[in-house]
Amino acid sequence: MECIFCKIVAGEVPCHKVYEDDNVLAFLDIFPHAKGHTVVVPKKHVNSIFDFSSEDRTKFSTGLSAAARRVNEVIKPEGMNIGLNDRPAAGQVVPHVHWHIFPRWQGDGGGSVHSIKGQEKIDVAEIAKLFS
Ligand code: 5GP
Ligand code: ZN
Repeated sequence: MECIFCKIVAGEVPCHKVYEDDNVLAFLDIFPHAKGHTVVVPKKHVNSIFDFSSEDRTKFSTGLSAAARRVNEVIKPEGMNIGLNDRPAAGQVVPHVHWHIFPRWQGDGGGSVHSIKGQEKIDVAEIAKLFS
């Protein structure tokens, strides 16, 4: 087993646990970007959210929500960003799905989700046709 998050789930690599249920494990990120920066990982190895079954989607979103509530309760931030980098083009480094929970405070110097990428000139009406 090469995956670092599978090793953490198996207890072979230590972590600072934040929350655990039958389906997910949440632990403090080793290189935090904020006080209480937490990663939430499914206990089974899945590369991308697009590999989830419909059952997985329900279980993992319940676990993510519970982990976020725990971070909010203990760290008491003023706000929170929750997100994931899905596949390398979006910045995913560890190929085992994981959500980042970033506790936030007014004036902490961070940006919003919009700061991941600058605005682009795109014809929204043209894109909308793809969904019709
Ligand atoms: P990614 O860039 O794949 O979305 O994020 C991976 C995250 O996992 C990074 O924020 C990184 O700091 C964290 N990470 C990588 N290896 C370990 C580890 O061994 N332990 C912990 N606690 N976090 C890790
Ligand atoms: Zn894994």
